[in-house]
Amino acid sequence: MSHTAASLREQFPLLAAAPELHYLDSAATAQIHSAALDAVIKHETTSRANVMRGTYRLAEAADLAYDRARQSAARFLNAGSADEIVFTSGATASLNLVAHAFGSTLNAGDRVLISVAEHHSNFVPWQMLRDRCGIELALIPVDADGRLDLARLAELMGGRCCLVAVTQCSNVTGAWTDVAAIVAAARKAGARVLLDGAQAVQHGPQDVRAMDIDFYAFSGHKCFGPGGVGVLWGRADALAQMPPFLGGGGMIAGVTPEKSTWAAAPQRFEAGTPPIAQAVGLAAALDWMMTLDWAAIREREAALCRRLIEGLVGIPGLRLLGPQQGQRAPIVSFDIPGLHPHDICQVLDSQNLALRGGHHCAQPLLTALGAETCTRASIALYNDEADIEALLAGLDRALRELA
Ligand code: PMP
Repeated sequence: MSHTAASLREQFPLLAAAPELHYLDSAATAQIHSAALDAVIKHETTSRANVMRGTYRLAEAADLAYDRARQSAARFLNAGSADEIVFTSGATASLNLVAHAFGSTLNAGDRVLISVAEHHSNFVPWQMLRDRCGIELALIPVDADGRLDLARLAELMGGRCCLVAVTQCSNVTGAWTDVAAIVAAARKAGARVLLDGAQAVQHGPQDVRAMDIDFYAFSGHKCFGPGGVGVLWGRADALAQMPPFLGGGGMIAGVTPEKSTWAAAPQRFEAGTPPIAQAVGLAAALDWMMTLDWAAIREREAALCRRLIEGLVGIPGLRLLGPQQGQRAPIVSFDIPGLHPHDICQVLDSQNLALRGGHHCAQPLLTALGAETCTRASIALYNDEADIEALLAGLDRALRELA
């Protein structure tokens, strides 16, 4: 089924109520779809109870809703089993979980390979692990466009490389990672592969089995679901090898005063009460996403991205960060020397344009690209030509006001 941006926009309550708003910050947080919002309200008003603990009918309804949410997430990722889905509070929590749990199976001198293009949430936990356990942390460099430079990949995977943890798509440049090349090299080196899918999931369902990876992390608020929930997918054998990260209720097989034993995955990694209604809402968003014609949506997103880049290259002094050609997500960042992105974003805001400026939690990448900060426009399925033209006109005004 094909959808116009206008018909999609109507399905997002915040956007439907604010027709004047040009929302171009979906890479930070996408708007919530009505199906997700309705599912949260329905769950909270008909099935609210704790999960995996109660035996009364209301608790069974909550269990069923939570199990179904796991199955939806598994379908969205084409996971081998719903037991491979761990609900977390978001991509950051998913990445920290792997850094702690998988990380605790590593020895001093084992290598983890990340890239310069990582969001801080896939950078800092590995630095912390290095400082705690003495692992080697190696970095895949980026080229002048911010794409991962894979020329020295085999060499970087040398030594005792146990894990390659990289972003699937940069939150600054929109560059997609060549996952197939990374996986091929990792398999040769005997390393596992983690993908940070935070920026990929709002551009369509994923196939973790076709990608042949081991871990996949994402957040609900970036794919039209509620905040406060995310997913860690882990291949069954990888999860089975990992000890828990957090201890508490729900993650044990048994506890004696002396010691505890662990439940199997995914419960082993879900200590305490999980974000139940949020998971149910996320599942509704994912179910809705799975009904869409993603080839058509991606084509429209790419056309808007091209139009935006075309308009930006004509602005004197403006420097685009990231690739202008080839496979990229509709995330466009630029730097205008002498102007701070916060000032630019403030003037744009006065024209109902919502964009983000700053270092985008990717300081190593910005440094590699020779910028301290930048302004970012990110396009999602509900954006249209009017948003792009408004941004180009708004920038023109911002430049005159700030000159
Ligand atoms: N990775 C990437 C590539 C991101 O863009 C983000 C969010 N900006 C994250 C991880 C972290 O996501 P969250 O803040 O939802 O945990």
